[in-house]
Amino acid sequence: MARTPQTGWLSRASFWRITAVLGLCAAASQAEEAVRPKVVLTPEAAAIHAAGMLFDGHNDLPWEIREKGNSSFDTLDISQPQPTLHTDIPRLRQGGLKAQFWSVFVPADHDKTGDALLQTLHQISIVNTMMQRYPETFEFASTADDIQRIVTSGKVASMMGVEGGYSIEDELSNLQRLYDAGCRYMTLTHSKSLKWADSATDEPISHGLSDFGKDVVLEMNRLGMLVDLSHVSPETMKAALATTTAPVIFSHSSARAICDHPRNVPDAVLPLVAKNGGVVMVNFFSAFIVPTAQLKLDKDARGSLHDVVDHIEHLVKVAGIDHVGIGSDYDGVPQLPAQLESVASYPLITQELLNRGYDKEAIYKILGGNVMRVLRKAEDVAKSMKQE
Ligand SMILES: [Zn+2]
Repeated sequence: MARTPQTGWLSRASFWRITAVLGLCAAASQAEEAVRPKVVLTPEAAAIHAAGMLFDGHNDLPWEIREKGNSSFDTLDISQPQPTLHTDIPRLRQGGLKAQFWSVFVPADHDKTGDALLQTLHQISIVNTMMQRYPETFEFASTADDIQRIVTSGKVASMMGVEGGYSIEDELSNLQRLYDAGCRYMTLTHSKSLKWADSATDEPISHGLSDFGKDVVLEMNRLGMLVDLSHVSPETMKAALATTTAPVIFSHSSARAICDHPRNVPDAVLPLVAKNGGVVMVNFFSAFIVPTAQLKLDKDARGSLHDVVDHIEHLVKVAGIDHVGIGSDYDGVPQLPAQLESVASYPLITQELLNRGYDKEAIYKILGGNVMRVLRKAEDVAKSMKQE
């Protein structure tokens, strides 16, 4: 801007405004550094992390392989470091990942084009290829017992999760098909509302679940496929929690009380999750974790590992230690907090939980014990429903 006498005063005012904001930011970041130092991994935390069973609820690597690698592990060989991804085998090993729900996501517009199931099957074939190509690293698990066995053998136990109920194309029988293909959860919606369930990021249609939506939940219970309430609206969360006979998961959602984003879980829903025996698996995406007040000041703030652990602590406080897990959303999000940039970072969460006074047993629950309990319970419910 040209410095003319006419604009001089305005410029000065702007200058002071900018200086004040910059001063605040500098003060905030200095305070952040002073109060919240970088987390440094100790041998004690590393040992606890290694002994625990980290089971991540959501990773979008299959979609990235499709988009960035033309669906080919020749193009993106994950046995080698892949800096364009959040996930590769060397970093998975560093991060101590024991079990993973691989997302077989397809975009919500496939609801309109009528090929959602076909595209989901394509994503499943990418995960199948990954299992076949890296058999020393991954193995498919179909039950909780399977997971335990595979983890003991030193491999990453792998299950798949469907993201978006449009994948069943309004046919209950397609749930069985997806279950048989290895899918063990389904988010009822993605970013758009369906005829039978409402998305958190769209206008409601059913204001909860339609009758068909309730049938979907009960058929998932009968199969032993986890009902995933990430992406749905609070009304649909409540309707699903009132319908389901098995514990639910939120495979990748954080706490709305800390970051007021519609993708997060409101406090009002958390006691219902506790009563249901379910688990909220914390998403690492910066836009879901940076505290609301800080986001208002700086919409590009990326936050840090400390913010993610704040979400974990809040969920522990409101829902209870038995109802919190990890659902990173690695390779599904464009921005991640400091010190959580890739799958190599997980041990730092264990470290920070230890730093905040969590004991070993509590940390094991958060890392994977809780979601394992949910999976076992869902298997029991399925067995008893099939006997009826
Ligand atoms: Zn998602």
